[in-house]
Amino acid sequence: MKLLIIGGVAGGASAAARARRLSEDAQIVLVERSGDVSFANCGLPYYLGGEITERGKLLLVTPERMRARFNLDVRTRCEVQSIDRVARKVRIRDLASAREYEETYDKLILAPGAAPLRPPIPGVDLPGIFTLRNLQDADHIKARLDQGVRQAVVVGAGFIGLEMVENLVRHGISTTLVELQDQVLLPLDREMTAPVAKCLAAEGVKLLLGESAAAFEPTSDGLTVCLKSGGRLAAQLVILGVGVKPENKLAVDAGLAIGARGGIRVNEYLETSDPDIYAVGDAIEVVDFVTGQPAQVPLAGPANRQGRIAADNCFGRTVRYRGTQGTAVVGVFGRTAAITGASEKTLRRLQRPFRMVYVHPTQHAGYYPGAEALTLKLLFDPQSGRILGAQAVGGAGVDKRIDVLAVAIQAGMTVFDLEEMELAYAPQYGSAKDPINMAGFVAANLLRGDHPQADVAAVVAAPAEQRPFLLDVRTPSEFTAGNIPGAVNIPVDELRSRLGELPRDREIAIYCQVGQRGYLATRILCQAGFAAVNLGGGYKTYQLLAAGTNGG
Ligand code: FAD
Repeated sequence: MKLLIIGGVAGGASAAARARRLSEDAQIVLVERSGDVSFANCGLPYYLGGEITERGKLLLVTPERMRARFNLDVRTRCEVQSIDRVARKVRIRDLASAREYEETYDKLILAPGAAPLRPPIPGVDLPGIFTLRNLQDADHIKARLDQGVRQAVVVGAGFIGLEMVENLVRHGISTTLVELQDQVLLPLDREMTAPVAKCLAAEGVKLLLGESAAAFEPTSDGLTVCLKSGGRLAAQLVILGVGVKPENKLAVDAGLAIGARGGIRVNEYLETSDPDIYAVGDAIEVVDFVTGQPAQVPLAGPANRQGRIAADNCFGRTVRYRGTQGTAVVGVFGRTAAITGASEKTLRRLQRPFRMVYVHPTQHAGYYPGAEALTLKLLFDPQSGRILGAQAVGGAGVDKRIDVLAVAIQAGMTVFDLEEMELAYAPQYGSAKDPINMAGFVAANLLRGDHPQADVAAVVAAPAEQRPFLLDVRTPSEFTAGNIPGAVNIPVDELRSRLGELPRDREIAIYCQVGQRGYLATRILCQAGFAAVNLGGGYKTYQLLAAGTNGG
């Protein structure tokens, strides 16, 4: 068996190592266009920021080590030019010598990844404007930084854009982040990104939402970024982080099936439309685990796992890829934002029924030093309670909760399972009622009808005459410090003696700070015969939803 793999980083290197473990006899050829295999592209921003000091640490495995340990035929600086499916051979160009030659295969795995988008903006090819994909890109950016950069512009507020912003600020560079949409971190729902936008502002980052780069012009000092709104930004360095496109040229030229967004189409065994060719990683179209829709999800975890699965299937095993649920996390200036499964906006776009709850607990027992608030948003099926997605933002503990919920989604669990979930607890790690349990309690109470809830956004957006009676059950000082316009304040501890002040002919929407006192108040009013609902997540959720767009 001769296995040929195109692309030697996340998906390709995983496939090669797995293939060797499955067969000592197979001939395995790994062809990689750059000079490196299996390098840590996820670490590049931190190398540029100086957190990772040694470049060599990013090279997880060298070509020599891959040859020695896995007995692989590794060919770096070699690019596959074309695939001849009938003859089962590829044409390879040795980039150092420009020599071209052919190589046959029995099975082929495509792992060419995705290339950063370089939008056709006037001046986009000027010196000082970079994308970041590999070590060579990092070397070029580092050389520019070493020349002395005072001002930088990052275009695109996705995961890589945000990581670059943090690492440029670490160098003391005055940094502006330009984003076309009205929020950072597009996969998340907008209100969940408000704390990230706020912390960018606190760190002195100028965040321009709803803005885009229209042109780049050279200056004696570097560049001017001309904004669509007419503004102009001086910079000595520009990083473009506006997304990636699947490297599908080989597949297109070879006549393989391609998805609507350019990803190579594969079946659940990662087989392309040619049964001798598999494809993995950023280059493929996957099925969204929750929605069942085709999706492009460029993440390292899926690419690595797909590489293993494709190798298994090449060697006669029958292993299914379950789909991708888009579990992702990013850290910015000590804040963490993470997501798994479907977002609210995705569910709305697909017109899929859902309910959602917000909880705002601390990551561990509040009395233990170092407790930090986190916000967790949970989306679930209104009938079965099956978990559809989750997002969290805060400090410590965000990653752990999203990982737990990622597993819960994979296991097909419901909000009722979250109530029962037994998680490790000591005061410095969690709470006896972990934020996961809390989200489960709130969601399960909602579905059981014990805790009628309304979405803050829907109530606030309703025309004044259709709005319910708004009741704030916090203390007078909390109320004075900020409240939802139109609300009446009766603290929860006085509620039982002041029922006469409440209308019986209108729905009453109750809120407190995070939802807990509101829940108790809802129970008191419901049992007293009022039509009462609690505003999920309370005033804190209202504040998230109301946060301004520019750094609000
Ligand atoms: P790649 O890792 O891109 O590898 C594809 C390789 O194929 C490339 O090296 C390319 O040179 C080679 N190639 C392409 N065409 C040919 C050809 N014709 N012939 C020979 N070789 C070819 N993901 C996360 O989950 N978490 C993170 O924190 C994270 N951070 C990231 C930070 C940065 C700066 C970048 C760039 C990406 C990050 N990612 C992260 C994304 C993650 O790195 C990718 O999802 C993952 O590397 C995809 O693996 P892949 O094997 O499909 O493609």
